[in-house]
Parts: sequence; structure tokens; C-alpha cells
Amino acid sequence: MGRNLNNLQIALRRLIERDVLTGLYNRRSAEKRIDDIEGSGVKYCVAIGDIDHFKNFNDTFGHECGDVVLREVALLLNEGMNGREGFVARWGGEEFLLVFSNCGIDEAYDALMLIRQALHDKEVEYDGQIHKVTMTFGAAEKTEGIPINHLIRNADDKLYEGKQGGRDRVII
Ligand code: GH3
Ligand code: MG
Ligand code: MG
Repeated sequence: MGRNLNNLQIALRRLIERDVLTGLYNRRSAEKRIDDIEGSGVKYCVAIGDIDHFKNFNDTFGHECGDVVLREVALLLNEGMNGREGFVARWGGEEFLLVFSNCGIDEAYDALMLIRQALHDKEVEYDGQIHKVTMTFGAAEKTEGIPINHLIRNADDKLYEGKQGGRDRVII
């Protein structure tokens, strides 16, 4: 009985905190986790990564193939955060939020460049075919007095710059 209750709690927590497709934190729990980092007073950076031309990808290869890519991207982003403080979340459909805790913008930039390159080099197999995707990232460092939503907007503005500049890049 006790064990069943415990398993149920674990399952419920997963359902509440995680995105079903990728297993990453969902947007709501990401916001809560940022609040916690904010409260702890450490310096941190946020980045938004968005898959390049993903609508076209879905239209060409199908939504199911797109879903496989989203899962692979989630794995790769998580791997990219290995050994770092922070977390990755699914922010929206094909947008991911990366939070680098205890980290300045130069270090976050270096980490994002490694992740960008790893994805650039990655081959995703689906239905016997190899697929390639790239991602553009915008990042910003938390500065004194700026609210979280402004910080995320700053990262989003940088992402937009990266899209305008040709995609498959990191802008800080
Ligand atoms: P850009 O390089 O400017 O980001 O272009 P884009 O085509 O990626 O941008 P756009 O916002 O037009 O398209 C996003 C696409 O992401 C459209 C939508 O079908 C796809 N998408 C969002 N969520 C999911 C999902 O859960 N699964 C799949 N397969 N596709 C998704
Ligand atoms: Mg998008
Ligand atoms: Mg996109």
C-alpha cells in the first residue's frame, strides 16, 4: 500500500512537471525552477533554442518524424548540460529553454556553441533515412533588477537576431 502510494506520487509528479513527448521539464516547472535559482541569488544565464525551419521539416518528412527529432534534440540538449549546473526545459513546441546556473555569459556561450555544433553534426535516423536539423540559440545573463520575463525576452530577441542572421548560430 505504502509503495503503491509512493509510485503514484512519483507518476503524478512526473505528469505535472514533465513534457510527455520529450521527458524534459515543462514550461510551468521551468518557471518555478528559475524562481528558485533567482531566490538563491547566484548569477545565471538563460538561453532559448529553436529548431531551424522545423515547419518545413514536418511538411516534408511528416509530423511523426518531427516528433522523433524533438526527442533526439531533447536528449542532446540534456547531454550538453551534463556536468553543469542548471536544466533544460521544453519551452514551447520546438523551442527549448536552457538555464545555466552559477554561470556567466561567456561560459554559457561556450557551452551553447558545443551543443549547437553537436546538433549540427548529428544524424537522426527515421524510417531508414538520415535526417539533419540545426538550431539557433539566443542567450542573456541575469543582471541586477531585471525581472525574469525581461531576461527571457532578451534571450528571445537574441534568438530572433540569430534567425535573421542565417540560423544555426548562438547570439549573446
Ligand atoms: P524558424 O527557423 O524561423 O524557427 O522556422 P520554423 O519553421 O521552425 O518556425 P515556425 O514557428 O514557423 O514553425 C514551428 C513548427 O514547429 C511548426 C510546428 O508544426 C512544429 N511543431 C511544434 N510542436 C511540434 C511537435 O510537438 N511535434 C512536431 N512534429 N512538430 C511540432
Ligand atoms: Mg519557434
Ligand atoms: Mg523553429
